[in-house]
Amino acid sequence: MVETFPITTYFMLLLLFISFLVSTLGKPKLSTNCLPSKFQNPVYQNRKLQNLDIISKLRDDHDAIKLASSDYGNMVHEIPASVLYPTSINDIETLIKFAHNNSAPFTIAARGQGHSVRGQAMARNGVVVNMRSLKNHRNGFGITVSGTPSMGFFYADVGGEQLWIDVLNATLEHGLAPVSFTDYLYLTVGGTLSNAGISGQTFRYGPQISNVYEMDVITGEGDFVTCSPEKNRKLFYAVLGGLGQFGIIVRARIALEPAPKRVKWVRMLYNDFSVFTKDQESLISLNGRKQKNALNYLEGLLLMDKGTPENWRSTFFPLSDHSRIISLVTKYGIIYCIEVAKYYDDHTLNSVDKELQVLFEGLSFIPGFTFEKDISYIDFLNRVQSGEQKLQSQGLWDTPHPWLNLFVPKSHISDFNSIVFKDIVLKRNITTGVVLVYPMNRNKWDDRMSAVIPDEDVFYTIGFLHTIGFNDWETIDLQNKDILQSCYNAGIEVKQYLPNYKTMEDWKNHFGMKWRTFQERKAQFDPKMILSPGQRIFNNN
Ligand code: FAD
Repeated sequence: MVETFPITTYFMLLLLFISFLVSTLGKPKLSTNCLPSKFQNPVYQNRKLQNLDIISKLRDDHDAIKLASSDYGNMVHEIPASVLYPTSINDIETLIKFAHNNSAPFTIAARGQGHSVRGQAMARNGVVVNMRSLKNHRNGFGITVSGTPSMGFFYADVGGEQLWIDVLNATLEHGLAPVSFTDYLYLTVGGTLSNAGISGQTFRYGPQISNVYEMDVITGEGDFVTCSPEKNRKLFYAVLGGLGQFGIIVRARIALEPAPKRVKWVRMLYNDFSVFTKDQESLISLNGRKQKNALNYLEGLLLMDKGTPENWRSTFFPLSDHSRIISLVTKYGIIYCIEVAKYYDDHTLNSVDKELQVLFEGLSFIPGFTFEKDISYIDFLNRVQSGEQKLQSQGLWDTPHPWLNLFVPKSHISDFNSIVFKDIVLKRNITTGVVLVYPMNRNKWDDRMSAVIPDEDVFYTIGFLHTIGFNDWETIDLQNKDILQSCYNAGIEVKQYLPNYKTMEDWKNHFGMKWRTFQERKAQFDPKMILSPGQRIFNNN
């Protein structure tokens, strides 16, 4: 329910503010040292705002503030002055224009699902735009599918607030689907396009940002701009991977292709890291979009838990094989697992096994340690949701998540194994959660976009996706710092994915050659530095 601001008397406001303070102070999760000083905040000070339509869509009740000041990471809590629940794109334009034209501009952060882990979608003392609110006001046009069948050209126009699972379901009704996904589909289109959107499909189809034809964006000046590689291209490339710094994505045109029906999902185990990476690299070298014999998906993970070969994200191995896999883990400390998928449908039903067999010839996994599943396409893409439900039921979904995601150049991946996996992770025996390791091809990314990747043709993504209780996150955080420091000491030039830095100097290093362009784009599209302050790039105090 949307609450309206009582604007008639000062005393009513004061009463609300006091009750907000009381209700907030009682809640342990909200940090009290940054409670909004409502009457000092330009959001409230300015009478002009109170005359705008959007005033009735701003909320500062406990539930709205609590949601906007928390995220999946559950480690950072920044309290906004207010939360906008837009019912139209115009509401967002009005808010940004108002902030931009204000003598004391306030910050604004779009919040998708708030699945960031370090407060990136928060706005201390500013306004958080709850993008999901738009979903209920699209009049059936939140996701529309179009195309030219004779040319095999299809796309979906989707609101920035839409979840990928909803995009998938809507496009499947037309026998179509996006080509590049994230592992977990309950993320918003605007949120993943602000980062990159990566998964096992990236080596072949590129990240999600490489599969966008056009966007509608509301810039930091409150201008509604349609952009594409042909039109307003500077904004287009700035926004993709732009960490929310240049505008709020309200529509994206996503590339679609005919959807397959089923998936052969295979895992194979290795006890030697260099053999594991050699095989991964060989498999991703077949990566043409139209190359029929190429895989559709490739990832990799570490098995280190001596209690179970499964992790929170998926249940894969047959129960009857658990004990022999655990024996391997016990013997070697770390077992490396390649995970691949090959899609098929009625036309390829009879050839898919043969194609996989050919692909696997020459691979050097441990004999007898390959495992295969045959599942529907939607179940494959939505595989992480059952993991979420499991963690929800164990009360482990809302715990802190000190996740660390890195891109590591191929030339240093072996050093990374010795220095990080063996000398840090294995020795400290923090084996809960998932550690992902898989390579990608640089030529599937577009360097004009804001996303930052290593400067090598092949690089690896490493994801430390821990599942922990409420009290353990600082130990993991310390480990994360040690990992970054050890890489630095060893000259391994890692780039953070979903980056989190504290100083401008760190951000400069992160962007490297792209820093100047990033700054220029900020000056052009968000000159008052209003947008996405939670990234702490230009608002890092
Ligand atoms: P938010 O966290 O709400 O926002 C992220 C940033 O984008 C913020 O700075 C915000 O201000 C900005 N933003 C949000 N919406 C918009 C918009 N419409 N326009 C402009 N800026 C906007 N990532 C992957 O790439 N691959 C994965 O497989 C993957 N799996 C994940 C699994 C889980 C369980 C979780 C929690 C996260 C995962 N992520 C993955 C990370 C995810 O991509 C990021 O958290 C991303 O930010 C999307 O989350 P969100 O939609 O909730 O965005």
